[in-house]
Formats: sequence, structure tokens, C-alpha cells
Amino acid sequence: MSLPKETDIAILGAGLAGLSIASWLDELAPANAALPRLHLLEAREEDTHDRTWCFWDQAPHPFGDAISHRWPNWQVSHAGQQVEYSDPDHPYAMLPADAMRRSAYNRIAIRDEFSLVRGVKVNAIAPQSESLRITTSQGQLNAKVVIDTRPPPMNALAESQGVWQVFHGVEVHQPHHGHDLSKACLMDFQAGHSGIHFVYLLPLDEHHLLVEWTCFAADRHSEVCQTLLAAELPWMLASWLDDHLGKGWVVQRSETGCLPMMPVTPPSLNSRYLSAGIRGGWMRPATGYMFASCQLGAADVARQLLKAHTHNRWHLAPPRLRSPALGWMDKVFLQAIRQHPDAASGWFLRLFANTTAAQQRRFLGDQPSAGDLLAIMQALPPGPFMRAALPRFSTSGGH
Ligand SMILES: Cc1cc2nc3c(=O)[nH]c(=O)nc-3n(C[C@H](O)[C@H](O)[C@H](O)COP(=O)(O)OP(=O)(O)OC[C@H]3O[C@@H](n4cnc5c(N)ncnc54)[C@H](O)[C@@H]3O)c2cc1C
Repeated sequence: MSLPKETDIAILGAGLAGLSIASWLDELAPANAALPRLHLLEAREEDTHDRTWCFWDQAPHPFGDAISHRWPNWQVSHAGQQVEYSDPDHPYAMLPADAMRRSAYNRIAIRDEFSLVRGVKVNAIAPQSESLRITTSQGQLNAKVVIDTRPPPMNALAESQGVWQVFHGVEVHQPHHGHDLSKACLMDFQAGHSGIHFVYLLPLDEHHLLVEWTCFAADRHSEVCQTLLAAELPWMLASWLDDHLGKGWVVQRSETGCLPMMPVTPPSLNSRYLSAGIRGGWMRPATGYMFASCQLGAADVARQLLKAHTHNRWHLAPPRLRSPALGWMDKVFLQAIRQHPDAASGWFLRLFANTTAAQQRRFLGDQPSAGDLLAIMQALPPGPFMRAALPRFSTSGGH
């Protein structure tokens, strides 16, 4: 598919956010309605099954049929203690990238107005009087609105207010591994390492597991972080697998990430341009989870696009994804982790031990009630969190 000269909507990047917006547009369009022309511009020529999205399946989204696994129980462990929860009505769920993409591509294929253009790298965007001009590796395209989901530039990230979540994971084959297929092990904190290190384990069937080793780093470009990604995480994970599964496990697929757990200032241009996905600050800074807020954001943007098309008024506003109280708590939480990295694993255990399953899934799924936020605050030790919050009170006081 080649690039046209013009379109109504250009979505830059066909990853989670770009494909979610296109899928929601299809989902929410009234039956038999004419839709706006939509072009998704994606730099990749081909897909790789490089990730899975996990989340608590507790709100509507267009990818229900593509979910591969559900775990009604989850567990967190630290220093020999473990807490376990169960919520069969709202299980922890896994959406593999290849299944999610297939579902979204099917929706795109059946809509004449939608096109996915691969192998096209977006280089620049410039405002025109009634459109935005996009310069790409395959020429130029004018769009009435642009939704930009490319990775954020470094200057959009408040690195000093957060940490990088660095992880390496493998899907392994180990016959009769013996792990409970109904239980997701969200965090098994690993002693003997400086800062936070934990293993995340999802049993896929009797013979397969997804296992990841995660830690936090202050600077993504530091040598420490590069060494973690290239050598240390794979090595620590392999030793853990040897110890816990015995020899003989075979890697079938791997996934690696370095996620910015920090506030993002979404790049902006004018009201015809919207940053979305990680670039738009849709990922939850305190957790690195994005699926739930991405679905809220994508549905909101799809509604705005349908309205813009109906009224031929092409302007977009950033969706409001979380309450100011949750945003504030996340900032305090990240600050406390930065100040006391060695204490944080104990706090996570306290948080899980002193809240209910429903409070946890709503909090981690970005939709806590005021009561949930209060319960989370009460579950955490007051001293370090008060100290982490205090500078915020004084800066908001005008100093
Ligand atoms: C391995 C991994 C596992 C994760 N697991 C989870 C999870 O379990 N749960 C969860 O909630 N979150 C998870 N995340 C975090 C987050 O949900 C994902 O990173 C998610 O893919 C981010 O979506 P996005 O649309 O912002 O970016 P992406 O999905 O990365 O999409 C951006 C797209 O833009 C394209 N692009 C880049 N530059 C250009 C350019 N110049 N021109 C055109 N296209 C371009 C890229 O090729 C890419 O396809 C995970 C992340 C990773 C890396």
C-alpha cells in the first residue's frame, strides 16, 4: 500500500495505542455510517511476537476474543512471606501481541476507509492552514488530524521524578513444571540485590511458562542499565530458572523492555495534533502498566474523531485518564521508591497484604475509588511517604 496525498486522520505508529484507536473507531461507529479516511503509518515492515499485554480484565475493550489466558488468582511474595488473592469475575488476563494485531488488522481490512501503510518512517510534521503536513520516508501526506504514538523524545520525560523499569522475560518449555495454572505470580522479590528485583511468573499450560526478571534503574542510558539489559538480567533469569525448574527448560521466545515509570509531558503542536500512547503519558507512571488506560484513551479519542467527522471540525483534546489524586499519589510513590529503593519490596508486600483483591485490581487498573486510594495510603508506612510528599507541598506553596 503506497502513501496517498491526503487523508482525514493519520495515526503515526501501529503499536498498542495506534491499533487500539483504530479498533475503537470501528467498534463505536454507528452501523452503516460513512467513516473518516484513516491511515496508520508504521515504520516496521514486519511484526515480531515481541510482547504480551497483561491487565485485569475489568473494563470493556475490543480485544476480548484475542485474550489467550486468564488467571483468577494472583500472588506477591517477599522474604519468605506471601499473600494470595482471588477474583474469578475479574481475572488477570494476557493478550499476546500477535493475537491483538490479528484482531486489529481484521477490523482495518474490512473497513474501506482504513489503511495500514507499513515500512514508512515519519520524519517531521508541520502545521498548514487546514491540515498537518507529514514528511515520511515515502513522501508527504496531508492529514486533517494527526495522532502521534511514536516513542516520546527524551526531553518529554521527567527522568528526575521516576525510574526506568528494566526487564527481560522468556517463554519457556519445561514439561510438567508443576506451577498452579490458576495463579499469576506478580512479584516474587529477590533478596541479595541492591534495590528492587523481582520475578514475574505466568504459567501458560502444564508445559509452558512466561517468566520475567524485573528491576529499576535511574538512568536508561547509563552503563549500568545497558549491562543489565545485555547480560545481567538474562543471566540472573537463567540461574533462577535452573534453581526453580531444574535443567532442561528451553526458551521459545523472549521479551525485553525499558519502560519510563515517570511523568511524561506529551509533545504538542496545535489542536489538530495529539500525542497518544506512552508519548501521550497514557502509561501509568507508578506501575508501567498501560493496557487499561490505553483502552480508555483510545475509546475517548475514537469518540472525538467520530464527532469531528460529523461536524467537519477537526480538533482533538487529550483524554483525561486518571484523577488528579491518583496522579499525585503516583508521584509520591515514585519519589519514595527513589529515596528508599531497598525498602520498597517490603512496602509492596504491605500494600498487597492490607488491601482487598478488588482494591488492588481497581488501583492497578487505573480506576480506584476514593475509598480504594485511602486504603492504599493506610496500607503503606506513613514516615517515608510523608517525607516523599513534603517537598511537593512546599513547591506547590509557591517557592
Ligand atoms: C516487552 C513489553 C511488555 C509489556 N507488557 C505490558 C503488559 O503486560 N501490560 C501493560 O499494560 N503494558 C505492558 N507494556 C507497556 C506498554 O503497554 C507497551 O510498551 C505498549 O506497546 C506501548 O504502546 P504504544 O502504542 O505507546 O507504543 P508501541 O506499542 O511501541 O507503538 C509505537 C509504534 O510506533 C512505531 N514507530 C516508531 N517510530 C516511528 C516512526 N518514525 N514512523 C512510524 N512509526 C514509528 C513503532 O514501530 C511502533 O509500532 C509492555 C512493554 C514491553 C516493551
